[in-house]
Amino acid sequence: MGHEFIGTVVEAGASAQEMLGKRVACGAGVSCGQCALCKEGRTNLCDHYYTLGLSIHGGLAEFAVAPKNICVPIPDSVSDESAALAQPLAVGIHGVRRAGVKKGDQVVLLGVGAIGSFACVALQSYGVEIIAMDIDQKRLDVATQLGATKTILISPEITPAEIKALIPAGVDVVFETSGAPGAAARGLALAKRGGILMLMGLNKTPQDFPFADAVLREVVLQTTVAHVCKDDMPEALELLASGKVAKLLTDRIYSLENVNEAFEVLASGKANGKILVTPQNV
Ligand SMILES: [Zn+2]
Repeated sequence: MGHEFIGTVVEAGASAQEMLGKRVACGAGVSCGQCALCKEGRTNLCDHYYTLGLSIHGGLAEFAVAPKNICVPIPDSVSDESAALAQPLAVGIHGVRRAGVKKGDQVVLLGVGAIGSFACVALQSYGVEIIAMDIDQKRLDVATQLGATKTILISPEITPAEIKALIPAGVDVVFETSGAPGAAARGLALAKRGGILMLMGLNKTPQDFPFADAVLREVVLQTTVAHVCKDDMPEALELLASGKVAKLLTDRIYSLENVNEAFEVLASGKANGKILVTPQNV
């Protein structure tokens, strides 16, 4: 397990000797480099894609094996704690890149949990107005510190009509990051005529969606998954350099031997952000 990880290269194959001793952040998604989509640069959609830490063993261990082309050297200015967030931030960067956000746009982040927070960080360089909506005031407070211009606390039961009434004219781009039941329809209600609904959250069950409303208002439905290592990871490391993001989005650090305790905190829903695990003593 562990698909968001960094490490120091202690052994390397013949073609990767220059990596020895380097601190690297791992992109986790492995692609073949040969299929049509890889050749287009869309390595996250590779025919043979698999993810270290999800499909096979990953970084939740003292040692891990990763291909050279998904190990991105970490600049000296970026701490281990910050660099550990590079992979999930790269996912946020990829989603924002695909959404086609333009300078001056008004954007809604529907949900500012992990994915929404990282999208908020990624949006900082676009010069947009960011309205964060969530059912949790604590998350909204963090979103403000990450650069959200405005926050709105919503009820988990809010209807599309009620959420539309909050911003009747609609916004240019809506990022639906929660995957919660009914959230895609709420996101659509927030998009303006001709706007964009970017679906980032994963719905566990099929849900109702008013397609006719999307068609009649020419709302573009966009999707995004994972990230493209060579494009998104270097930018993620750059955005993490100040240390501010890690400070706001990291709950705590556990040693590897206490990892079960970390999982219990995660499973209980009591974690306020990412939990990091280190093979060193903490
Ligand atoms: Zn491929």
